Amino acid sequence: MSADLSYVQPTPNSPWGTYLSQVDRVVPYLGELSRWAETLKRPKRALIVDVPIEMDDGSIAHFEGYRVQHNMSRGPGKGGVRFHPDVTLEEVMALSAWMTVKTAAVNLPYGGAKGGIRVDPKKLTHKELERVTRRYTSEIGIIIGPQQDIPAPDVNTNAQVMAWMMDTYSMNVGGTATGVVTGKPLHLGGSLGRVKATGRGVFVTGREAARRLGLDLRGARIAVQGFGNVGSVAAELFAEAGAKIVAVQDHTGTIVNANGLDLKTLLPLARAEGVVGFKGGDVIANESFWDVACDILIPAALEGQVTAERAQKTQARLVLEGANGPTVPAADDILAERGVLVVPDVICNAGGVTVSYFEWVQDFSSFFWDEDEINQRLDRIMMNALNQIWDTADRHRITLRTATFAVACERILMARQERGLYP
Ligand code: NAD
Repeated sequence: MSADLSYVQPTPNSPWGTYLSQVDRVVPYLGELSRWAETLKRPKRALIVDVPIEMDDGSIAHFEGYRVQHNMSRGPGKGGVRFHPDVTLEEVMALSAWMTVKTAAVNLPYGGAKGGIRVDPKKLTHKELERVTRRYTSEIGIIIGPQQDIPAPDVNTNAQVMAWMMDTYSMNVGGTATGVVTGKPLHLGGSLGRVKATGRGVFVTGREAARRLGLDLRGARIAVQGFGNVGSVAAELFAEAGAKIVAVQDHTGTIVNANGLDLKTLLPLARAEGVVGFKGGDVIANESFWDVACDILIPAALEGQVTAERAQKTQARLVLEGANGPTVPAADDILAERGVLVVPDVICNAGGVTVSYFEWVQDFSSFFWDEDEINQRLDRIMMNALNQIWDTADRHRITLRTATFAVACERILMARQERGLYP
């Protein structure tokens, strides 16, 4: 009997719809393993929880929370927790599925999971945020754990939120379980290099893609959408390599400067209040961001941002997907036809989960590495994965996205097949 998955019927260009279409594209390359492909389209487990908290004014507020474990054939679930007013179960399903593909693409011993709360954290006080985080952690406590499923930061969550999650889980199980989350503060079992790891991975894969395209990073013009953890770190590293950050967009608006924005002054302002108050650039309409003169485009905000129309007008030669699911399938086709190279999210932003893996390993061994060692290992893992994906793309004449899915889905479905079905 098949489960009633009517709630997963995707709306067009929704994250889950985008993911399903990416799976359809890889099936022809899976050979005999394709008989297991339906596994990839069904989350293993999805938990919806009510998160009631007492607000500072004494009223009671309820928020909806989710934890989806998409696939755990290769290891415990792994994936971030997002606090955002637009979070939905369908979005979390897609994000969890991309985690399955991502952890397999870089060959980490994990499955894929993701969580979220439908809440605008900017409207909560510090204490209210703590209560939401702790109640949510308690509610999903029945399915997470260092060997079951290990959350991490995502949009609007950070090291402080991870510290509360670790503490809540630890109090509930009666011990200090540092390995239950990654992205923790350093003195609570966090890892050096974790904060910058995702942006660093975007840089490492982008540098290699640019080299293969014959695009010199010195003087290359870069447009970045999303100037948070991922976008701002990637921008900094590209600027250090000699590139010019010519456009930045965040939730407050878009600023441009054809000579390059001064990141040293922009970064603290962006963190405090957003980019539009910045004096060293001109404010332009948000839609104009997409045809700004640039060589590299880095979408590092939310899903579904690179639409067919925007793909048609971008001037970039290279797109580096810092965000998860930023490009809808129709836009993918247009970019491929126009000869724009896309380094897909499932490899491009895998630096974060890779250093999360290092953090988890360090927590278990209670032995911590220095930052150089972490960055070198990250570089090596990302480069090995990217080279293998590139070979697969060349061999089958397919996009890097389909090639990443091919490499990853073969690993996932091979594990599924070797484990067999029980009971
Ligand atoms: P963040 O909260 O640190 O930053 C998000 C940025 O996006 C902010 O600058 C915000 O202003 C901007 N933004 C939000 N809505 C926007 C809009 N409508 N238009 C333009 N900009 C908008 O989040 P983050 O951790 O940097 O995550 C960004 C993306 O990267 C997400 O897709 C996330 O899933 C993905 N990602 C994050 C990590 C990680 O380690 N943090 C790892 C892999 C992938």
